[in-house]
Amino acid sequence: MGALRRKLTRAGLPGLLVTHLPDLRYLCGFTGSSAALAVTRRGARLFTDGRYTAQAAAETKAAKVQIVSNPPAVAAVQWLAAQPGVEMAGFDPAHTTVAGLTALKTALPYRLRRSFLAALPVAFVESLRQVKDEDELSVMREAALLGCRLFEHILNEFRPGITEIEVAAELEHQARLLGAEGMSFETIVASGPRSALPHGRATAFALPRRGFLTLDFGVILKGYCSDMTRTVFLGKPKPKERRAYAAVLEAQEAAVAAVTSGASCGEVDEAARGVLRREGLAEAFSHSTGHGVGLEIHEPPRVGSGQSARLLPGMVITIEPGIYLPGEFGIRIEDMVAVTRNGGQVLTPAPKALIEL
Ligand code: ZN
Ligand code: ZN
Repeated sequence: MGALRRKLTRAGLPGLLVTHLPDLRYLCGFTGSSAALAVTRRGARLFTDGRYTAQAAAETKAAKVQIVSNPPAVAAVQWLAAQPGVEMAGFDPAHTTVAGLTALKTALPYRLRRSFLAALPVAFVESLRQVKDEDELSVMREAALLGCRLFEHILNEFRPGITEIEVAAELEHQARLLGAEGMSFETIVASGPRSALPHGRATAFALPRRGFLTLDFGVILKGYCSDMTRTVFLGKPKPKERRAYAAVLEAQEAAVAAVTSGASCGEVDEAARGVLRREGLAEAFSHSTGHGVGLEIHEPPRVGSGQSARLLPGMVITIEPGIYLPGEFGIRIEDMVAVTRNGGQVLTPAPKALIEL
């Protein structure tokens, strides 16, 4: 909260309305699904409904709790407007609908409707979330290691005739048994020519006898997401397939090696992109190298071409270059990497040498 208040002061804002639930959880610890947090320079108040009376009392830190029967964001904005010296409050334009904003304005006294709510700069609270503290890092390490255990487990589950959906089901079932609160996104299982789809959802197709198989998955542990991708080969790869895999692995390792405190996200992206360009695969690498990860699966910073944001110790990013050759195959390798004072620390130490099954 201290860092947030300093940010508010710098932005000239006496009040802040927080409605994006991951931001709210980060700031005050509450994990319920209906809430709004109002912050002023003096205090903070969490508004939620009667279903969460006990949970809010148990979880909420650094804010008073008020149970309300009207929508929490409306109650929060009315409370802010009633605070002495708060003549304006920031709201999050990235997570507020047009209808939601109208409802908030309508709830204000007439004289404040035009002037009270100000759109925050993008990623106002998210930018604080980028740098993780020791407690957050230890949870994220644990989540990442759980992902590695799932990968080891699933390698023993491939048998003739198994479908992509069954692979996903086995992985997700095991994740729960190992303590995951849930998956951090829809598990990607893409085999054979479908591996050329960067976001190939698991389908009812059986795994082919030969071809690449991409698994991209993550778990949620204590609210924090993990994210990793491994591509394995079913059967015996041809020289072209082997070469392509080696190129992606080299690109991935080059980008991991480029992760240092102070490096720009664009430089890290270029480390991977440069390798694939040299191999004639620039066109096939059709997305960014990575993204921040934390309470949400995709957070700032974006590790993409030309991004000038600099890496700081405590950030956790993914490094996930891939190539996609439509009709043929695709390959992606993804690690989670924590930025430390001494470079990048890989949080997902699952094997990356090509596994042939
Ligand atoms: Zn992923
Ligand atoms: Zn990712």
